[in-house]
Amino acid sequence: MQEGRPGRFRWCRSPQDGDSLVAITFYNYLTRRKEEFVPLHDPFVGMYVCGPTVYDLPHLGHAKTYVAFDTIVRYLRHRGYKVLYVQNITDVGHLTDELAGEGEDKIIARARLRQVHPMQLAETYTREYFRAMDALGVLRPDISPRAAGHIPEIIALVQKLIEKGHAYESNGSVYFDVSTFPEYGKLSHREVNAASEEESRVAQEEKRHPADFAIWKRAEPEHILQWPSPWGMGFPGWHIECSAMANKYLGATVDIHGGGIENIFPHNEDEIAQSEAANDAPYVRYWLLTGSLKIGGQKMSKSLGNFVTIEQALENHSAEALRFYLLQAHYASPIDFSWDPERKVSPSIEEAQRGLDRLYGALRAADEWLQGAPPAAEGEASADAQALEARRAESHAEFYEAMDDDCNTPRAIAVLFTLAAAINRFATGAVPAAGTDRAIVQAARDELCVLAGVLGLLEQGAVQESAATDLDAVIEKIIAWRQDARQRKEFALSDRIRDDLRDVGILLEDHPGGKTTWKRAR
Ligand SMILES: [Zn+2]
Repeated sequence: MQEGRPGRFRWCRSPQDGDSLVAITFYNYLTRRKEEFVPLHDPFVGMYVCGPTVYDLPHLGHAKTYVAFDTIVRYLRHRGYKVLYVQNITDVGHLTDELAGEGEDKIIARARLRQVHPMQLAETYTREYFRAMDALGVLRPDISPRAAGHIPEIIALVQKLIEKGHAYESNGSVYFDVSTFPEYGKLSHREVNAASEEESRVAQEEKRHPADFAIWKRAEPEHILQWPSPWGMGFPGWHIECSAMANKYLGATVDIHGGGIENIFPHNEDEIAQSEAANDAPYVRYWLLTGSLKIGGQKMSKSLGNFVTIEQALENHSAEALRFYLLQAHYASPIDFSWDPERKVSPSIEEAQRGLDRLYGALRAADEWLQGAPPAAEGEASADAQALEARRAESHAEFYEAMDDDCNTPRAIAVLFTLAAAINRFATGAVPAAGTDRAIVQAARDELCVLAGVLGLLEQGAVQESAATDLDAVIEKIIAWRQDARQRKEFALSDRIRDDLRDVGILLEDHPGGKTTWKRAR
């Protein structure tokens, strides 16, 4: 498989060694084709993902979308790219009926029900969002800009669009003039008129064309979130915030723009129109959109009673099993999640947990084998170990091949299972260790950990082990310092070190001849 491409995978052991990277391909929603990924300023990658509207607890749909982009970011970084990952927090301007461009601000509506300030509600759910993402092993974005914190940038962008003739003020609101942007609809393949039936009569009166959309809205006096603008008091539309913040932090052209497929229209489409009309540059090079999550074949919604928050899903399941479940589907594919509301249990996650247990089982089997195996020896490895080594090398190649192919995590996970099965077969067989068997088992175990770690999996085992190793090394150092103190006959200090370690559960034992050993208190 690696024939003719020597050194292809060498970089992933040492990404700084100057090896050129083999291309990653992504399915680009803009061209509806798989394309080789070439960032504008290699190796730097600017990535923008539409973040949550923080008016309620994060749900399984959020888990699916953000685990997917977390995995893509992790993989790009693993491949040596320097990714700047920006994901906004929508805390103003997202209306209850976004398709019609009207309704009430979702955050204000919910805040009124709860009788709290809208910004208090947004803060509460921003924290809840990060808490849930942390549990799922989703690394925090590099920048999490809030819309309400970027009103000057938004107003400047609206002004620019007016100056360039792409937007017009009408009765205190500002609309984007769709007729000035002939490429409108190029991402979602929607006809310009498609939204017109949804339009309200009031909006029609203010707009020149039914498909025009609001980028700045006039605020009624009682509207809580409003700011002064050249067009009077108002607040931004939802779509304009992403254009303004992507532009501020990533420049006119973003390498990767991500989001859920459900926001392709009007949200993403409008982002393109605003940004390209303002900057006269392509807004996004690669559009990556995640498939939707359904529950029992239906759209998840409060009214259907099938709305599952991440918190609920984790009541009876581990976060790692949920992450593993989500990654077993390709990010662009839809998922049909199973949920038993009575027992608050998901057969889908239960199944994933069993798979995860198999991977951890292989790590344990390898560790046990290594503990019982004789020390490293010279000479030829056994035939079984050679077979394991061949499997490891193949798994390594297959894993990167799968991930390079549009981040195909289901295929990558299948590779992990194959490697785990090979480790299990070897470690639980009764073959006596020969030659370099030990090094081979260690390498296979480490390979499984590293590859799974790229997906944000099996980190539990790896982290615990490295934490234990670090602590052991620290204790050995402290014992060495204590030995020095004893040699200088500073017995008060050496006794204090012994007593302090005992207080934290580390028991020192001094042996005749001056040697000191230690153990953990039970
Ligand atoms: Zn957005």
